Order: sequence, then C-alpha cells, then structure tokens
Amino acid sequence: MDATHESEQWRNLPNVEERFWAKVDKTEGCWLWKLSPSSRGYGFFHYTAVKNHHKNALAHRVAYSLTHGPITPDQILDHLCFNRRCVRPSHLRIVTAKQNREHLAGAQANNQCGVRGVYFEKGAYRRKPWRARVMHNKKFVEAGQFATLEEATEAVRLKRLELFTHSDADELQAAPPG
Ligand SMILES: [Zn+2]
Repeated sequence: MDATHESEQWRNLPNVEERFWAKVDKTEGCWLWKLSPSSRGYGFFHYTAVKNHHKNALAHRVAYSLTHGPITPDQILDHLCFNRRCVRPSHLRIVTAKQNREHLAGAQANNQCGVRGVYFEKGAYRRKPWRARVMHNKKFVEAGQFATLEEATEAVRLKRLELFTHSDADELQAAPPG
C-alpha cells in the first residue's frame, strides 16, 4: 500500500511519530506546537527529505495525517479552535474546497476584524457591536452580540466546538477542550 503523496515525504522518516509528538505541548485544550510559528501563526515541522534537502510541512497537517491517515494537498484542514498553532487532531477537520471558499467568501464580505465568524456591525448595536456566528452545514448559527472582540471570539470558538461535538461526539466528549 503506497498512498503516500509527495507532500507527505516526512512519512519516510525513521521514528517520525516520536519525533513529531516530542515537539507538541499537550495542554487540556489545544495541543501547541513548541517551535516558533510562522508569521501567519502556523507551526512547521522541519525535516530532511533526501540528504541535505531540508523541507517544512505544516505541523497541524502532519498531526492530522499521522492520526487519520494520508491526506492530499486539496484536502483543506480547518482549525475548529481558531488556534493555528494547535495540532490536536480533534480540533481539526477536513473541509471541502467548496466549504472553504464559502468560509473565505463570508469572511471577506463581512469581516473587518480578522477573526473568522466575528463581525463588527457599525451602528446596529452600539453597546454590543461584535456579532459572533458560525457557519455550520452551510447555514449561519448565531452565537450572540458582544461588547468586545475578545468575547465574540471566545463565543465563536465555543459555538464551533459545540456544533462539532454534535456531529463528532466521541473524540471531543472523551477530552473536552479546556
Ligand atoms: Zn486547538
């Protein structure tokens, strides 16, 4: 069985699982990649594919793939916890390219704060201008109106985990995020 895509050359490393998980700090919530993240906030797993040929793989993709089996580059992983540095497999899910476009389109159209699912509604709610909502099964699920970006961000995170729990009960119920 050789389903390994070129993008997963790291699979050929000896003891890849031990090497990888040694760089992960498993908190009760997110599992954090210990090395410095990229400028966009993602963790990278550095490895040597062929002699003196150094490569990087996105750490959360490696984590998911080690746990669930090979993934291809067109399988996009979504962080349910919004923490790009997190590599906890239960906080990741594969979204289709279409779903991802929907997410991005929604974010670009409405989002002025950079946090997906959180929208600033000018004028509509003066005391609680931050609206939190989550895309679930192609529909928006409201998570409330908040006075601060931080509150709205947290509400979105919790709502996403709640909705995720409904469809993928076992993993999250066994280890609820902190
Ligand atoms: Zn996480």
